[in-house]
Amino acid sequence: MSNIAERKPHAVLVPVPLQGHINPLFKLAKLLHSRGFHITFVHTDYNHKRYLKSRGPNALRGLPDFRFETIPDGLPPLNDDSDGDVSQHIPSLCDSIRNNFLQPFRQLLAKLNHSATTGLNPPVTCLLSDCFMSFPIQVAQELSVPIILLSPVSADESYLTNGYLDTTKVECIPGLNNFRMRDLPSYVKTADPNDFMLEYFIEVAGRVPTVSAIVFNTFDELERDAMNALSSMLPSLCTIGPFPSFLDQIPNNHLASLGSNLWNEDPKCLQWLQSQEPRSVVYVNFGSITVMSADQLLEFAWGLANSKKPFLWIIRPDLVIGGSVILSSDFVNETRDRSLIAGWCPQEQVLNHSSVGGFLTHCGWNSITESVCAGVPMLCWPFFADQPTNCRYVCNEWEIGIEIDTNVKREEVEKLVNELMVGEKGKKMRKKTMYLKKKAEEFTKPGGRSYMNLDKVIKEVLLKQT
Ligand code: UDP
Repeated sequence: MSNIAERKPHAVLVPVPLQGHINPLFKLAKLLHSRGFHITFVHTDYNHKRYLKSRGPNALRGLPDFRFETIPDGLPPLNDDSDGDVSQHIPSLCDSIRNNFLQPFRQLLAKLNHSATTGLNPPVTCLLSDCFMSFPIQVAQELSVPIILLSPVSADESYLTNGYLDTTKVECIPGLNNFRMRDLPSYVKTADPNDFMLEYFIEVAGRVPTVSAIVFNTFDELERDAMNALSSMLPSLCTIGPFPSFLDQIPNNHLASLGSNLWNEDPKCLQWLQSQEPRSVVYVNFGSITVMSADQLLEFAWGLANSKKPFLWIIRPDLVIGGSVILSSDFVNETRDRSLIAGWCPQEQVLNHSSVGGFLTHCGWNSITESVCAGVPMLCWPFFADQPTNCRYVCNEWEIGIEIDTNVKREEVEKLVNELMVGEKGKKMRKKTMYLKKKAEEFTKPGGRSYMNLDKVIKEVLLKQT
């Protein structure tokens, strides 16, 4: 190991092993790498196999100071890309995180510190994890190294999860204006005090106040009220996002093309967008976990077809409950010349493509921040977890989206797609989204609030001598 590597701080990052949690922590890893950290990113064995398969064998060549390690996920073995993938089943995964992750993670850190004695890597100096897991906090305490938690969800969502797990009356939550019960995250609405997910979150929330800092992939312009409300409950919070804008501004970023997707990205998506008119395409993607019935899929399909607008639709192999749906030849004939359907795409590149004019989304927090950073307004069809809350903010507070009813109907999809792409409301939403995009850039450039917050946590927490 060179002298430079010896002097490098060594950050180990461990996400909840789900796509929507891996992506923001991976971006944080890239930010820390650009600030001189040696990085170890921890995947589960299963996800790492998928990652290598999707990136190709050469993807990780030539990255001596950005490495991957793996731990088992403790789940029953399964076939790649099979239907009903248990690693995507949240209660099973959380149960395994609670019972099976601590020991292998502890052993991994012991291995890294041992290899530091022979010069293979610097000793571990700090941990970064996800605020939905508690075992890394325990290990950080055992090793006496600082730990920072990243919230992969919005500040509003963390506020609800950490502070109001047993809420029954929406109007009594300070800072939430005009919220309906159905806008709250699914796991805080349970009436059963023994609900497994509720228990899981309460346990994690109990450990959160002991960590060195909690950082958010958001910026104050979006979530000032929620950050203020959370700050009064938890120590050392700060906004260091949104990550897409932050990463765009790293000069000579030689990790720019290193992505974190576990699915194979279909290269046809970007090629096809090249052939479309500026801002003409509706991009449709429901993220990595949301599922729908065959009937719902058909309503979306015919709504898009009848809108007469070009669309790029990502249909994951496991999107439809109970297996895939064959779209009729009528649908195919109607949309052939103005549509592309694929299984997975490089979403950020798609959103930033000049042909994309609107995003029909399930409202995952990453999708929303990516859409804001690309200046693309949204149609929202939230499914579960934090998505209804995010949708409420997008549509009612920031006014950059329109909600589609849970009981989706083709006529509504057709009408709202047209409103989004060519209507007056769509124009207003685009203007507001562009305003937020500019604000996101201001917050993440040198001297901006998020930029300074990141500097501060690096200096005062991650590089603090213990
Ligand atoms: N994503 C992607 N291509 C796809 C679908 C999703 O790159 O075809 C990425 C997307 O950019 C985002 C993440 O996967 O970073 C999904 O996270 P999000 O929070 O939006 O939703 P979740 O999958 O957690 O429900």
